[in-house]
Formats: sequence, C-alpha cells, structure tokens
Amino acid sequence: MTATRRSAPKFPMRLDRLGDGGRDAAGSSRTVLRPQAPLQQAAVDAARSVVPSGLGLDSAEVRHRMVRRLHAAGLSNETVLEALAAVPRHLFVDGALVNQAYEDTSLPIGHGQTISKPSVVARMIELLTQGRAARDAGSLGRVLEIGSGCGYQAAILARLAREVVSIERVRPLHDKARAHLALLRETRVRLLYGDGMLGHAGGAPYDSVIAAAGGDAVPQAWLDQLGIGGRLVAPVRIQGTRQALVVIDRTDNGYLRSVHDAVHFVPLKAGLD
Ligand code: SAH
Repeated sequence: MTATRRSAPKFPMRLDRLGDGGRDAAGSSRTVLRPQAPLQQAAVDAARSVVPSGLGLDSAEVRHRMVRRLHAAGLSNETVLEALAAVPRHLFVDGALVNQAYEDTSLPIGHGQTISKPSVVARMIELLTQGRAARDAGSLGRVLEIGSGCGYQAAILARLAREVVSIERVRPLHDKARAHLALLRETRVRLLYGDGMLGHAGGAPYDSVIAAAGGDAVPQAWLDQLGIGGRLVAPVRIQGTRQALVVIDRTDNGYLRSVHDAVHFVPLKAGLD
C-alpha cells in the first residue's frame, strides 16, 4: 500500500481514521476509546484482547497523542504524521526506555548511537516530500537512507516510499534494525551493512536521499546517486560545531542547496565498525 492510496486525515485527526493497518506488531486489535457508560466500557474492555506492549496502555493511543503534540508544534504534513502514528516506536527501543518511547526525545540505542527525535524524523521527511520527484510521484519513490540505526526511520520511510535502501556501518545495529523490521513484517526496506558515505551505486538513481548522521560536507557519492528531480536531506556542519539540515535538489542544470533548521545529530563516520 502506498501513501497515495490512503486517505489523508484532516486535522484535528479523528483517532478512528488513523488505523494501524493491521501492522501493530504486538498483534493487538485496536479499540478506539470514547466516553461511554461504565457498563458499556466494561464490555468493550472484556472484548478487547490485550497483548502486553510494555506500555501498559494501547500504544496506538499514546502514538496519537505524540502526533497531536507534533502537529501543535508546527509539523503539518498529514501523510508524514500518519506514518508516525502507525509505527510503534516503543518496539525500537530497549525495554528500560519503553516509557519514554513517545516523548519527543532522542534515546540511546547502543554503540554510542541514538534513535532520532520524532519531530526531527518528521521534519526531515516533510522536507523530502517537498522535492520535485516526490511531488510528481505522490511518494518518496526510491529512497537511500544512511544510518539505519535501530530501523525506526526506515520503517517510517517505508510507509511513504516504493523502496528504501538503508545502510548502517555498525554491525550489531544493522542486525538490530533487521530484527525490528522483521517484527513489523516490513518488506520494502533493504538493509545493507556497509559504509554509507559511499552510498549504494547499485541501487542508483534515488528519488530521495536522507542521512541520519552529520558530516562536514555531503559526500560526493550521495550527490552522484541522486536522480534528476530528486532531493537530499542531511545534517551538515555549517560553522564551528553547529549543524543544520541541508536540502539539495538535483535539477537539470545542477544542484541547488538550501539550509534549514539547526539540529544535533551523531557524527557521520567513514569505514566500518
Ligand atoms: N535512523 C536511525 C538513526 C540512527 S543514528 C534510527 O531511526 O534509529 C545514526 C546512525 O548512523 C548510527 O547508527 C550510526 O552508526 C550510523 N552511521 C554513521 N556513519 C555512517 C556511515 N558512514 N554509514 C552508515 N551508517 C552510518
């Protein structure tokens, strides 16, 4: 199913329109809670097959709350917010951090790396969707992601793309991303273990390129592998230690660069770990 075929919810979103598409990896059937008489509510509770999620709540409800907060904070792309409402972020973090999974914060995922903040994931993907190729195709098309980490952003991208090629240089994280995406039965993500600074020429050209780690400059390989009409979004050092989201559009006449929000990402490193 592609993003274009789903109906876009209008804000404020109605909770019952944002289904999990049967993809809640906890396997729970989601029930929308509305104010009801106590007896009715008891019957609803009894009928609900509750699978423990570690959250002690229906995780879809918690996600919707997170999405409403992101919307209130100015993130307005409904397709992107719908994807954030659907992907169970708590399954991507370690047990001890599950209670913080729906806060707008980055969290450690091991090996000195972090899962990105939901608002930053949403912002970067929102920027990607504004690129020409994405606008023409109604989706992100074929995406190259550098820095799979725990696989969370790849799962979000997969809901908006035809295919995601995602590269990670730390082997245990690559394995972790694989396990998480298998849990969600995500088939549109191709995970590669390698140095993402080289991109993946075998899959080029890409409609969208997105990096989850920040370097001093955008590697030439990413620019070469970006298709004409395509857009790249990456954190890049702009002055001193400051980082910002840099957008690069590849046009018929060359590359156009613009600088956006200040961010703080883990470093982009060459080679393998
Ligand atoms: N998108 C990830 C964020 C992970 S943090 C998520 O949703 O969890 C950034 C990741 O980039 C780290 O896992 C780090 O190991 C990885 N990384 C840094 N430099 C890299 C490179 N050259 N190639 C591939 N991955 C890289």
